[in-house]
Amino acid sequence: MMDLEQIDKQYVLQTYARNYVNFKKGENATLFDDKGNNYIDFTSGIGVVSVGHGNKQVADAIYKQISNITHISNLYEIEPQSLLAKKIVDLSGYDMACFFGNSGAEANEGAIKIARKYGETKFDNKKFKVITLEHSFHGRTITTVKATGQSAMHKDDFAPYPDGFSYDKNINDIYHSCDNQTVAVMIELVQGEGGVQPLEKTEVQKLAKWLNENNILLIVDEVQTGAYRTGEFLASNLYEIEPDIITMAKGIGGGVPIGVVMTKHKDILSAGDHGSTFGGNYLSTRASLEVCNILEQHKQNGILDETIKYFEQEFNNFYINHSNIFIKAVGIGLMRGLRVKDASTLSKVIETAFNNGVLVLKAGKNTLRFLPPLTITKEEIKEGFQRLEKALTNI
Ligand code: PLP
Repeated sequence: MMDLEQIDKQYVLQTYARNYVNFKKGENATLFDDKGNNYIDFTSGIGVVSVGHGNKQVADAIYKQISNITHISNLYEIEPQSLLAKKIVDLSGYDMACFFGNSGAEANEGAIKIARKYGETKFDNKKFKVITLEHSFHGRTITTVKATGQSAMHKDDFAPYPDGFSYDKNINDIYHSCDNQTVAVMIELVQGEGGVQPLEKTEVQKLAKWLNENNILLIVDEVQTGAYRTGEFLASNLYEIEPDIITMAKGIGGGVPIGVVMTKHKDILSAGDHGSTFGGNYLSTRASLEVCNILEQHKQNGILDETIKYFEQEFNNFYINHSNIFIKAVGIGLMRGLRVKDASTLSKVIETAFNNGVLVLKAGKNTLRFLPPLTITKEEIKEGFQRLEKALTNI
């Protein structure tokens, strides 16, 4: 009989370098495998399980919803979709409206479509160019791969790509790269996949102001930073800017696939311009509404800020204790990274961490990345770093 690993290798396209561990149960930031091992999860499924594994409140809301209606299509009013849109807009503090899809890449596709139509309809000359940053990550569809500022991802294998994308090394180069065909600049305020690299707040504020004065849209990709990952509902709130378009996914669904593009340019897309069969259905929006309620409460009662403080303290101690391995600590909120002196040491750290019962991630070439659930407890944080300490004694 084939075991699960053999079945996976035979029947699933091998696009991931998977670790073969079979998780059977999750409780907040702790996972249990089929062999009785437990793991502290400092990854939350790459920034997704914002309210922890096995969240009863979300599970109950989903169960109640899908025992009734799971999906009816966007041809009809969808109560949790409307309520979620209002919730997201209220939490953001911006005067915007939302479109729902199923993933971060799809949200960014929506953002680019809004920008392109804005560039087509609002000016005498057609504006279509979008500038992004080097080391950015915006998704895996053909367009969002092209929007991603990593040449290694623009392989000829998948060419041709859509026109109109270019990349700048840092945000201060953008002023010179914009021309009269530039419609938008798309940035992550903290580059996630690129290495947990926050942009400088004052530089972002200056750029936002300049783009606004020059009628160029600012798209902020908050697929990873959104849903309180940085400590505020949106990183845009933390940076005190007012983007034209914001995208979210990952943590806003707590594990249910959902993508959101929101914009203050509410009149750009009209009926028929954009759509998604599954986007915004009862299942994902009801779940996301519950996730938003939980996280809003978690922020309001001060626990999120306390958790961030405690995590930061443990993270910094860990960094200081291992200056032979780590060269820099980076990140904001519960989105943290440690630059490792070289890529092979990083792989070893991740592997030994796993063997000692902690899940951690890689970002960029040499960053050890931490994206724990936002509901992680102090005990789980403490236990996770103790296990990491133990792991590093074996390196
Ligand atoms: N944008 C950012 C900033 C991301 O971090 C990611 C995923 O890691 C994406 C877009 C793509 O999201 P998805 O994998 O849901 O399509």
